[in-house]
Amino acid sequence: METPADRKEIITLRRLIAYADKVFGFTGGIVAGVMDGRKLPRIPTGLVVQSVAALFWARLGSLNALELTAQSSFFRKWLGAPVCSADSVGRVVALMEPAGIRAGIHSLYSQLKRNKALPDQNGLGVAVIDGHESHASYRRHCSGCMERTIGKGAAARTQYYHRQVTLMLLPAALPGQIALRLLLDHEPQQNGEAEVTAALRLLKRVLKTYPRAFDLVLADALYSTSTMFNFLLSEGKHILTVLKDDRRNLYQDAAAQFAALAPTEGSLGSRKCLWWDLPGLLSWPAVDAPVRVIRSVETRTVRRQLDGKKETLTSDWVWVTTLPSDSVPTARAVAFGHQRWDIENQGFNELVNGWHADHIYKHDANAIECFLLLAFLACNLFQAFFARNLKPEIRKGCTRAFWPSLMATEIRAGIPSALSP
Ligand SMILES: [Zn+2]
Repeated sequence: METPADRKEIITLRRLIAYADKVFGFTGGIVAGVMDGRKLPRIPTGLVVQSVAALFWARLGSLNALELTAQSSFFRKWLGAPVCSADSVGRVVALMEPAGIRAGIHSLYSQLKRNKALPDQNGLGVAVIDGHESHASYRRHCSGCMERTIGKGAAARTQYYHRQVTLMLLPAALPGQIALRLLLDHEPQQNGEAEVTAALRLLKRVLKTYPRAFDLVLADALYSTSTMFNFLLSEGKHILTVLKDDRRNLYQDAAAQFAALAPTEGSLGSRKCLWWDLPGLLSWPAVDAPVRVIRSVETRTVRRQLDGKKETLTSDWVWVTTLPSDSVPTARAVAFGHQRWDIENQGFNELVNGWHADHIYKHDANAIECFLLLAFLACNLFQAFFARNLKPEIRKGCTRAFWPSLMATEIRAGIPSALSP
């Protein structure tokens, strides 16, 4: 039987890099396109971009951990030099131009698109937008920090934190492959501004660069605002959000119809559903078009872990959308509604927990923005390699966390034994 040790020969950091270079022109194109604001750079910017990509791929976790591997023959062969000190990496990333990293992510997207690796879902390009808090501290702060007061009276303290809004593309899976989850861009939320304000800034920038990447934006209830709906309508895009009762008139109008109308029966995977689908509602006049409200009451049977007994769970979802009912039937719209949670399951959670993306590598507004963009770039490249280059039988039976540990071993194996940590 094949053991994990045998697999070491199959997937390596070198193979990932060779794939990234061959398919996406990683080292020569994407890396070379990233600039920074130093006048007389002693350390090439590209060397820092490549080192940080390796930091994320091998999930080393911190700049100090990267510095400990600086003398590895892996880096000498790949970069032609050792990795520079943790301080230098932080300093260079703090001066890096985020636009260059964004252009690299776009070039990766364009190549995947040309390779037909990002198919629409039933004729629609789908994206998810969501906010995420990346760091909280009472001590350190920078020009990009948001602030809030924790505690009351004499115990009140100011807490500093960072938030970003992220847009992730959700293409359909190609036959026999796992679906890619492409992290397109993020926008830092400024102190005192609402998440939706930062989200609008993000969408405006993304729509300029990716005008045809998606037709539908999925978001949580926070995004059920007329400004967001009207902006996307004006751009020829659709939106689907969770509807809560704070949209009073629309919610009450819909609730009255839920009570009066019989639902249709449907199913979603193993769940049995009761659906109400109300197109053409005019009870949200601030939105420039009639909206459609869909409710799905879903029941599923689970076996309780405690005593193994079967238990029936019911959930009740209400969404509001601009999607037309003639081309997007209820079942499709309900499935889109559930994909909103993909950003939790396969986007942020994986990025934060698996990729150490919320670690503050250097507490500086520009460094935080650039490190997260570099994490997106590294994550997208790894995902493309994982989904497109690895044979399913190699992926089988190994958790995703297994591969980065192999890559870290590969880097550490190249450290001269006298220096080995
Ligand atoms: Zn800060």
